[in-house]
Amino acid sequence: MAVESEYAIETQNLVKIYKTGKVKAVDGLNLKIKKGEIYALIGANGSGKTTSLNMITGALFPTEGEIKVLGYDIPSNRRMISNYVGVAPQDYSIFFDLSLEENVRFFSRLYGMKKAEFEPRFLELLKILRLEEKRKALAKNLSGGMKRRTSIACALIHSPKIVFFDEATVGVDPVLRTFFWEYFHDLKKTGVTLVITSHVMDEAERADRIGLMRAGKLIAEGTPEELKQKHKASTIEEIFIKLSEGEIIDE
Ligand code: ATP
Repeated sequence: MAVESEYAIETQNLVKIYKTGKVKAVDGLNLKIKKGEIYALIGANGSGKTTSLNMITGALFPTEGEIKVLGYDIPSNRRMISNYVGVAPQDYSIFFDLSLEENVRFFSRLYGMKKAEFEPRFLELLKILRLEEKRKALAKNLSGGMKRRTSIACALIHSPKIVFFDEATVGVDPVLRTFFWEYFHDLKKTGVTLVITSHVMDEAERADRIGLMRAGKLIAEGTPEELKQKHKASTIEEIFIKLSEGEIIDE
């Protein structure tokens, strides 16, 4: 039943047309993300990043196309694969009337984590996310950045093999963000695959590869250096701005 694949994620001709939408929110997306890679999906508002992630994580049915996560077809294997995947969605995935700890416990159960494994992993994450003081605090009383970090704790509690961060570091201060990126690279070293969407271009620059989306299509892809060379730009932000203005048509 296990399917060995060098790729954490593969999509082929992935298309999404929302029932209420007239256009293709995702229009023929072909992605290949290797295990242990940090991949940043960037693009203007409405370019299709969240829709793509939602299909890959099995939260949304594709209109057309194929998805494989760790070699398994999605959405048919989405329940089984959810134990290996962590998602920190754009909108907080936390319950405001529960404490930080209760929230993370809830997700640990959802992912089928053993009770005895919870405490050591939770303590580790509280330390990494600098939330030790807030363990018992109600989620609604946390600051915006702390809520976001709680959401990250919920996504990481079961030590997933693939983590999706959909603008997960919005509202997180720059010092902590730098600290998180060190942690992301530590995760990578253990073979974890990270897929992030971000509008913070210096974050995208820290990824191994970047995919640029426009109008549901992947129009440029490569390492930060490859993209800068190819598009004669000194920063990813410059490329992003050109992309939003529609100046880049890739291969
Ligand atoms: P942002 O950077 O603003 O988060 P995004 O790149 O993640 O944007 P999506 O949220 O995937 O973009 O949206 C892609 C397109 O699909 C947009 O035109 C959006 O209006 C549309 N869309 C998203 N969700 C829905 C929905 N539930 N029903 C109908 N259309 C939707």
